[in-house]
Amino acid sequence: MPPASTYAGYSFWLETCGDDLTPRPALDGSIDVDVAILGAGYTGLWTAYYLLKRDPSLKVAIVERKIAGFGASGRNGGWCSSKLNVSLDAVARMYGRDRARALQGALYDTVDEIGRVCASERIDAEFARVGALFVARFPYQAGMMREYAEMFERFGFGDRQGLLSREETDRRVRVRGSLGAWHCPQYARLHPARLVRGLARTVERLGGRICEETEVTGVRPGGGGARPVLSTGRGDVRARTVVLAGEAYLTRLRPCRRSVLPAYSLIVLTEPLSDAQWAEIGWQGRECLASFRISIDYLARTADGRILFGGRGAPYRFGSAIEDAFDRDAETHEMLRGFARDWFPCLGNTRFTHAWGGPLGMPRDWMPSVVCDRATGIASARGYTGHGVSASNLAGRTLADLLAGRQSALTELPIAGHRSPPWEPEPLRWLGVRYVQRAMARLDEAGEKTGRAPTGRTLAERLSRH
Ligand SMILES: Cc1cc2nc3c(=O)[nH]c(=O)nc-3n(C[C@H](O)[C@H](O)[C@H](O)COP(=O)(O)OP(=O)(O)OC[C@H]3O[C@@H](n4cnc5c(N)ncnc54)[C@H](O)[C@@H]3O)c2cc1C
Repeated sequence: MPPASTYAGYSFWLETCGDDLTPRPALDGSIDVDVAILGAGYTGLWTAYYLLKRDPSLKVAIVERKIAGFGASGRNGGWCSSKLNVSLDAVARMYGRDRARALQGALYDTVDEIGRVCASERIDAEFARVGALFVARFPYQAGMMREYAEMFERFGFGDRQGLLSREETDRRVRVRGSLGAWHCPQYARLHPARLVRGLARTVERLGGRICEETEVTGVRPGGGGARPVLSTGRGDVRARTVVLAGEAYLTRLRPCRRSVLPAYSLIVLTEPLSDAQWAEIGWQGRECLASFRISIDYLARTADGRILFGGRGAPYRFGSAIEDAFDRDAETHEMLRGFARDWFPCLGNTRFTHAWGGPLGMPRDWMPSVVCDRATGIASARGYTGHGVSASNLAGRTLADLLAGRQSALTELPIAGHRSPPWEPEPLRWLGVRYVQRAMARLDEAGEKTGRAPTGRTLAERLSRH
């Protein structure tokens, strides 16, 4: 892995995205634009993309602290999921069954839309409609698996998913302890950094300007005739609308401190496996793969034949701190390597060549939000809780409609205008989140030991997943 101090060293994806990651020119003095966007990750870039596609005359500037794809967009597991982390039941409790169904329908369409744009804009993001398999590895997970399938059935999406027996699962991938799997054929897999870097080039081709290595240090709301402003050490960006697309990093800006929680997701990656190992594992369909662990795991088979194993579990840091040093948590990375060998015993002495991670934004109610405040001219989309590869596209399209003042099916979705409650102030937040993190790990341990659904199950449901 290249040195962590270089941009290529932040993830295997940035290292292999086929672009030298030389930063684009920074902002060089104050400018006036129509739309100013903080952050060149998927959210900022998808928003710019749809705005410029619809109105090529718009002046759009994106201001990025590092380089396009520096954040979660250049580091994630490459799952392009057809659902959110918050369950359909939870969305229905907040917004009713019909709107929960509409949101789920929009998420299915979103996976198609990302594939469509990659093809039409010639972004070689290795997009592949491979589906996802959520494997139950212990009896307590089998119960959760059936409940998931039943929930999608109840909402009328029975034809978009199904349960596979142990034998059917084994024919696709041989996972130690498998009891069967929940199959979601709509999921896709992609190369995250190729997508974000390709999107950045596409936005520039459409006329957008991306200023890299330029940190936004303040956000001034508009109102009373004044325009909203992104302030940087290199000048101000004044706009009709300012879009805050900094996801977990938004917590560094005073007005957004408690809007999301930076939750670290960490990844380890093996060297390319031998043909004999692949013959033993199977996984020819390269599906997105996970179990029903409450404390989250996710796997992918890379194009060059490696296994990526990701998971949560790195400790929350007091004050929502985000630092490069937290990307590599030795204990969590070692735990993930152990999990990978447990899933696939044939990994034995296989080398793990890469280990990285990064923060993702988790709102207090697990529900993403896409908001546009006309009075201040400030808009934002955030809080995808680890499902932002697809959700950021939906958010970008929704923001483009909201900014244009256009009513559409997207602006009627529950995420449009949703406002999550703020996280607790410290030290309550640190105490609460650390407690929940430990509780989730203990629920998994208890379930694995006893085979039974853990007591405290409602907690697991509240922390609804995948
Ligand atoms: C390890 C990991 C694995 C994940 N796996 C998956 C997965 O498999 N599937 C999935 O759907 N989701 C996954 N996610 C989540 C997903 O990657 C994110 O939800 C998504 O990338 C969010 O995109 P974004 O553009 O909103 O945020 P980001 O990609 O984080 O981009 C925000 C950008 O804003 C910039 N920025 C922040 N503050 C400032 C400032 N003050 N001034 C200027 N610029 C600023 C940052 O530098 C960054 O480039 C994962 C996340 C991580 C960390």
